[in-house]
Amino acid sequence: MSNPPTLDKFRGALAGTFAGDALGAPVEGLSADRIFRERGRVDKMLDARLGAGTYTDDTEMMIGVAQTLVERGDADPEFLATRFVENFSPDRGYGHGTVATLGYLADGTPWAEAARRVFAAGSMGNGAAMRVAPVGVMFHDDPERLVVEARRCAMVTHVHRLGVEGAVLQALAVGMAVGLDNSRPLDVSSFLDELGSRMTCDEYKKALDTVSGLIRQPHDPDRVIGELGCEALALRSVPCSIYLFLRYCSDFRESVSRTVSLGGDADTTGAMTGALCGAYLGAGAIPSDWYDKLENGPTGRDYVMELGVALYDRWRRAGDGG
Ligand SMILES: [Mg+2]
Repeated sequence: MSNPPTLDKFRGALAGTFAGDALGAPVEGLSADRIFRERGRVDKMLDARLGAGTYTDDTEMMIGVAQTLVERGDADPEFLATRFVENFSPDRGYGHGTVATLGYLADGTPWAEAARRVFAAGSMGNGAAMRVAPVGVMFHDDPERLVVEARRCAMVTHVHRLGVEGAVLQALAVGMAVGLDNSRPLDVSSFLDELGSRMTCDEYKKALDTVSGLIRQPHDPDRVIGELGCEALALRSVPCSIYLFLRYCSDFRESVSRTVSLGGDADTTGAMTGALCGAYLGAGAIPSDWYDKLENGPTGRDYVMELGVALYDRWRRAGDGG
């Protein structure tokens, strides 16, 4: 994490989330076989419920996280909860658990209670990981702080250790990607070792070992789906996105297209791989035919890019002691 990141990398993590989410949304819930039969590989913005290039809950919640970091300088859970409630659009494809949690928050339930009212043991889903990219870029130069803020960011909706650690893992990976010099080959082994050393759950350490094994062999989508998964559980999706980022890290299109084409929770795996590739390569690496299709209303493409600028400025001010 020695190389100072560029503004383009900050914007890439945010816009990459958006692009991957929008690419994956039209095939969410489909099997890889069906996608292959009907479309081959997904490498263009297909028509979606709200139109081609529209985003879902993943990006909407990522926007709330970025707004919170820009305004507060940290992932203040109370502020974050307010942002999530204010930004909520019911037609963006939120999961039932999140809708219920946001309902409690809107009714004034304290953030520390709302998520547990829905799932007493906490959610193991990937809903905290999908939105965490802004935390990864903001705290990329301070991994201990990054872990603390990723946990705070998760706890508003996800309190199960596997849901929380999935968000920590994704945030760490984004933070490392933003700090790396992309003109030099990425050292996959040390990237995975560093991530593994910061995991507290054995389940994630094991999944990262699986990533390490798969990456030494030719890409086999069926094996990836079987061994890593591309489902809505954090443990069965975050490692998959990290694998596809590491395998095709020099090529945003290849990496995100192959992620989404696995089907399953494709908007979220797409969002997470997109965040990683964007953080590593910068927003300029997002294919222009994808980028041009991204929705651009009041909280669309231009707004997300502006948030990236604001986040970058906030990070630089924090470094200056401001
Ligand atoms: Mg979604």
